[in-house]
Amino acid sequence: MENIIRIAVQKSGRLSDDSLGLIKECGVKFYNGKGKLKAVSHNFPIEFLFLRDDDIPGYVADGVADIGIVGENELAEKESNVTVLKKLGFSKCRLSLAIPKGVDYPGLSFFEGKNIATSYPKILQNYLTKNGVNAEIHEISGSVEIAPSIGLAEGICDIVSSGSTLMMNGLQEVEKIFKSEAVLIGNPNLKDWQTEIVEKLLFRINAVQEGKSNKYVLLNAPNESLDKIIGLIPGMRSPTILPLAQSGWSSVHSVLNEDQFWENIEELRAAGAEGILVVPIEKMIV
Ligand code: ATP
Ligand code: MG
Repeated sequence: MENIIRIAVQKSGRLSDDSLGLIKECGVKFYNGKGKLKAVSHNFPIEFLFLRDDDIPGYVADGVADIGIVGENELAEKESNVTVLKKLGFSKCRLSLAIPKGVDYPGLSFFEGKNIATSYPKILQNYLTKNGVNAEIHEISGSVEIAPSIGLAEGICDIVSSGSTLMMNGLQEVEKIFKSEAVLIGNPNLKDWQTEIVEKLLFRINAVQEGKSNKYVLLNAPNESLDKIIGLIPGMRSPTILPLAQSGWSSVHSVLNEDQFWENIEELRAAGAEGILVVPIEKMIV
């Protein structure tokens, strides 16, 4: 059989679309019909396993899958023996402690001797131990936010992104205990040929990520301000300067981090730049 690696991705949920989207942006083609549990790419040596996210760290640790995409929260909770290969920058969220709105919160000591409901008992226990708080942890697998209103617990520890779910359930966030984003993980004992394929995929992921965080910028500038403008948008090696049909003017092309572009926009305009275009980059290899 041809040598292929296996990647475990979430079947359906908050990681799925971005995980598969990233892999597609890497030029890896595959067909994932609804309800399929496996798929093989026809242009890259990779097979997909579609799983619940809870199972991904374990499958990768056991070598059932060679690599996988999972949230750092799930990874920390499972304490599986895997290697984090790359932070992926999506599915960003945090684990927080929350208590009912209107209840006075004097600090972490609030939780001393109290019940806390969570789906992340290990992360929570580590946090409480580190902070010298003794509390009773109730592990529940879902709908954690309703625990206080049904009298199961005085507080919860759950995933928060915007905070709107907490709000809807009459809760206030009182401590942020863990920050998470999606990561690419790998089995720590990959064979050389497997590592080679993983490296190829990582190369493409890096190119996609670099492309996303950078923009191709084009602008027109009077020749006398070129030095100033080149200093503001230095680019990868240096900007491209092309003469405009109108004498005394040039077109300047450069690549730069989007944040850096916005930071320098006023200075660019003050230096005489005009007709500024900011264009997305699909892939970027530095
Ligand atoms: P599964 O059925 O696969 O077990 P799940 O219900 O456990 O799915 P999801 O709600 O799909 O999990 O969330 C998957 C991961 O996405 C979480 O572990 C977390 O890392 C991240 N996540 C969860 N909620 C959010 C959110 N609101 N915003 C961003 N990321 C989130
Ligand atoms: Mg899950």
